Amino acid sequence: MKRVFNFSAGPATLPLDVLKEAQEELLDFENSGMSIMEISHRSKPFEIVLEEAVADLRDLLKIPENYKVIFCQGGASTQFAAVPMNLMKNKKADYILSGLFSTKAYKEGCLFGDCQVIASSKDDNFTHIPSLDNLPVREDADYVHICENNTVYGTKFHTLPDTKGKPLVADQSSCFLSEPCDVSKYGVIYAGVQKNVGPAGLAIVIIREDLIREDLDIVTPTMLKWKTQVDADSLYNTPNCFGIYMCGKVFKWLKKQGGLEEMKKKNEEKANYLYDYLDHSKYIAVADKDSRSIMNVTFKTSDPELDALFCEEAKKHGIISIKGHRAVGGMRASIYNAMTLEGVKALVEFMKEFEKEHLK
Ligand SMILES: *Cc1c(COP(=O)(O)O)cnc(C)c1O
Repeated sequence: MKRVFNFSAGPATLPLDVLKEAQEELLDFENSGMSIMEISHRSKPFEIVLEEAVADLRDLLKIPENYKVIFCQGGASTQFAAVPMNLMKNKKADYILSGLFSTKAYKEGCLFGDCQVIASSKDDNFTHIPSLDNLPVREDADYVHICENNTVYGTKFHTLPDTKGKPLVADQSSCFLSEPCDVSKYGVIYAGVQKNVGPAGLAIVIIREDLIREDLDIVTPTMLKWKTQVDADSLYNTPNCFGIYMCGKVFKWLKKQGGLEEMKKKNEEKANYLYDYLDHSKYIAVADKDSRSIMNVTFKTSDPELDALFCEEAKKHGIISIKGHRAVGGMRASIYNAMTLEGVKALVEFMKEFEKEHLK
């Protein structure tokens, strides 16, 4: 078996220990004689998997009592619609645009009501988080939406916006569980899990109780109502059982690593190692220093052809999926929780070699 260093933005690398455990249990889950994929979602063994996953997640994030956790299908993109469908009363919402996914969320919101952009860094190609000074949050806005870590551009909110009392809704897909997070500052947090937590197709949604409503003002499909999923403990229909099982294993792995404080330390160590080199090299960093993400590191050379060569050559060194998103070009190293410092060091070693040979 040969494992590569996988810098994919998502689906992304998972902890080897977790994959091995899943492999061991694949044919016979806890002496049931069945795979977890073949077991009823209403059975005791799966019930325990789900319960433990929720409990471990609550524990990791120290989620306050007055927040609910649900597993939803359809990834983060489905939540772009679920957010307005569940939260709009005045049919007005304010969005901060900081990249590709926040723009997608905004466009989806516009399908349901009057959505307004209250800050944007689009004019600067999203190389930084827009200024959050004195945001023109509307008096009757139902919520303010941000994408907290911009997977494509490699930027992250280092402070949260002042939403003037309106619920803050955050897409945390690519920074979820990468560091401690004060959940009480948010109305809703959602995350597609394939960046930092598990296999694709699943979103975790954390919702403050008072924002879970029965009497919605928009015709909302039963499956997209958060209330449906909250009342049914994420078991309204057959959930993504395998996805939940894998997320549960990753939560246990995170606890074993020492929790989110420890992950933050490890993630910062990896990111600093890479940025320190980058800043002293002939590569060009894409994101502005004060907005940098510790999960997605974007950089390029001065020549798209050299960028392509970089990605080709990297492969020969076992460095995979390092190509930047087509909206940005260049390279992107996604260094989520499961990426090791060893992997980052291997990348930097290769970058040094390539720099010596090709960059003037
Ligand atoms: C990947 C990503 C999404 C889209 O997730 P899907 O599960 O593919 O819908 C949304 N937001 C952010 C920040 C992402 O990184």
